[in-house]
Amino acid sequence: MIIMKFGGTSVGNAERIANVANIVKSSMKRSPVVVVSAVTKITDALIRLAKECAQGKGNKTLGHIKKTHYEILARLKINKKLLDEDIKELESLFKMAKSGKIIDDRILDHFQSFGERMSSKIVAAQLNKMGIKSQAFDSWELGFLTNDEFGEAEPLDTIYSSLNKNIKKLRVMPVITGFIGKTENGEITTLGRGGSDYTAAIIGAAVNADEIQIWTDVNGIMSTDPKTVVNAKTLDKVSFAEASELAYFGARVLHPKTILPAMKRNIPVKVLNSLNPREKGTTIVSRPYKNSNAVKAIAYKKNITMVNIDSTRMLGAYGFLARVFDIFDDYKKSIDVVSTSEVSVSLTIDNEESISPIVRELKDIADVQIKKSKAIICIVGEGMRHTPGIAGRTFMALGKNKVNIEMISQGASEINITFIVDGKDAEKAVKILHEEYYG
Ligand code: ASP
Ligand code: MG
Repeated sequence: MIIMKFGGTSVGNAERIANVANIVKSSMKRSPVVVVSAVTKITDALIRLAKECAQGKGNKTLGHIKKTHYEILARLKINKKLLDEDIKELESLFKMAKSGKIIDDRILDHFQSFGERMSSKIVAAQLNKMGIKSQAFDSWELGFLTNDEFGEAEPLDTIYSSLNKNIKKLRVMPVITGFIGKTENGEITTLGRGGSDYTAAIIGAAVNADEIQIWTDVNGIMSTDPKTVVNAKTLDKVSFAEASELAYFGARVLHPKTILPAMKRNIPVKVLNSLNPREKGTTIVSRPYKNSNAVKAIAYKKNITMVNIDSTRMLGAYGFLARVFDIFDDYKKSIDVVSTSEVSVSLTIDNEESISPIVRELKDIADVQIKKSKAIICIVGEGMRHTPGIAGRTFMALGKNKVNIEMISQGASEINITFIVDGKDAEKAVKILHEEYYG
């Protein structure tokens, strides 16, 4: 059994849905369980619709959502009645929300659920048209229950065995809604944006799938951003730890948390391109493995703010770092890279929103310097763990090309080295390093 999860762009219009059905058909021998996202941008539209309700508006957005789906049905020559019930329920929710005026997370989740509920029915109908006996399921019909943290719900520990039992006894190919679930009290929840991958991993773990395929619109995880380096390569294989390091940099394919259930059971997760299904894609495996390239990927992120905090009082004193982190914590500001010496701390933040009060408080205990428009560069590879001299080689290559390094940090996992350069040097540094390790 394999899981085939198709993201929003993969089911973005009638042609793509037909294409998805063909991809599924060609894998029939492996007993696919299909998981789908909403049609592209529909989740956004449903959230917008909910918010507009609170202001007594939303007719136009509702019309747009209906039209998008009806057009797909018309083009695929599927009976419009297929979505009657969902549309009716959405319309009555819309009316109710409009009169109630208050949109809480519970109502918001109910709104968002319609995207996946409709896309799953369309995909199943298309498969049936092609002669594949298939049926759409709302995830809870197969036992997908969650806690009641609306907007960010977590699956209940007990669902793995019920999902397994319910899916194994089906005599049709299921097309299951990603992203959504229900509480034990029968209220609809969502797993958080992008949550369909999480659904796929949970179902994959439950049925102990041979493989979980995440079909998206890129060829896989790349050695670096192909917009910066034209000969960036698709990586065949990436470890879970490597994928996690890269996720922060918007290797925008998968969020590591979402595939954790699969990794725990040692199920490989494959990232594939539905627009280019012949490409091999990238396989994410749970354990580290040997690879000839010590440095496998080079990621970067710009518009980073660096905060340098200097205090001679830190010398020999305890509690200083704790105090610094507490201040960031008080303002719920997440810190990304940290490096310390005996008398100074350098750290980076993603955006400088609400930084002024933080700086004010920091100045009570230290000298503070803010440097804007920096870039984080990160080199990642399991092979770095066993290869001496990677740091030397990296900084030598950059030094020869006059790229100044402003801060360095190496994580405890030893599979990455992260450093900060000026924003204007970011692309140049990435090109130099890609050439160094892939040239
Ligand atoms: N449709 C949901 C979203 O757009 C879930 C997903 O696509 O994974 O966030
Ligand atoms: Mg998605």
